[in-house]
Amino acid sequence: MKKAIEGIIFDLDGTVYLGDVALPGAVEAIAALRRRGKRILFVSNKPLEPRGVYAAKLTRLGIPAAETEVITSAYVLGRHLAGAAPHLRLYVIGEANLRAELRGHGLTVLDELSGQNPQEVIDPTGIDAVVVALDRTLDYRKLNTAYQALMAGAAFFATNPDSTCPVPGGAIPDAGATIAFLEHLTGRKLELLAGKPSPLTVQVAMAELQVQPSRCLMVGDRLETDIRMGQEAGMVTAVVLTGVSSRADVALLEQPPDFVVETLTELTHCLDGNSL
Ligand SMILES: [Mg+2]
Repeated sequence: MKKAIEGIIFDLDGTVYLGDVALPGAVEAIAALRRRGKRILFVSNKPLEPRGVYAAKLTRLGIPAAETEVITSAYVLGRHLAGAAPHLRLYVIGEANLRAELRGHGLTVLDELSGQNPQEVIDPTGIDAVVVALDRTLDYRKLNTAYQALMAGAAFFATNPDSTCPVPGGAIPDAGATIAFLEHLTGRKLELLAGKPSPLTVQVAMAELQVQPSRCLMVGDRLETDIRMGQEAGMVTAVVLTGVSSRADVALLEQPPDFVVETLTELTHCLDGNSL
């Protein structure tokens, strides 16, 4: 028999909410799990807002959450680098929140040049690492700066590997697309990934939950990030079909998730039926 589940990790977009609407069953299921004493953590690959903003959004949607119950790829990267490599001079392709998050961890984030010539870049020898994230102000100068720095030997980090970011009505290009661009351009490979499915996210999540991975249930809508991370960490996994994955996608997996649920309403039944 499997061990009892003590901690439950939820992805956010496509799992708990979509846009500004809680997905069916999310409010009730999370409340029921909390009543049973389960520890809950929300994990997002989005580096666009501070943890407190996601916690406030959850609370507004009827899922009361504290800032400490949310981790983002920006938070994971900042926390990891602050411990492992606090003196690196970082060149960030990313938005204001990521820069603030990294600086908040005591890290050095270089300022962009302000001149008009897009070919003019920061001296690449002054850049120790390039950090790639979703950046809706991405331009030629940023790509060129990252290119010059990577060719000069800078380390190659990213917040998250997603090629696209879901938005109401479709999707927009995300960090994965920029990573692929730079890998193609330089022949380099990404060296450090913070967000799901990275073990760094597992480490931070376990530290926050104070639970062993085998006592955790990972719930998400994306197979290659949420489910893969849970499986590689030895967690029980559940895919919910309210986001990007379908039953047909799940059927293609060599190692399927432990549970496939249409909505989070079914999640508590899974725990009941399996002595979890
Ligand atoms: Mg998702």
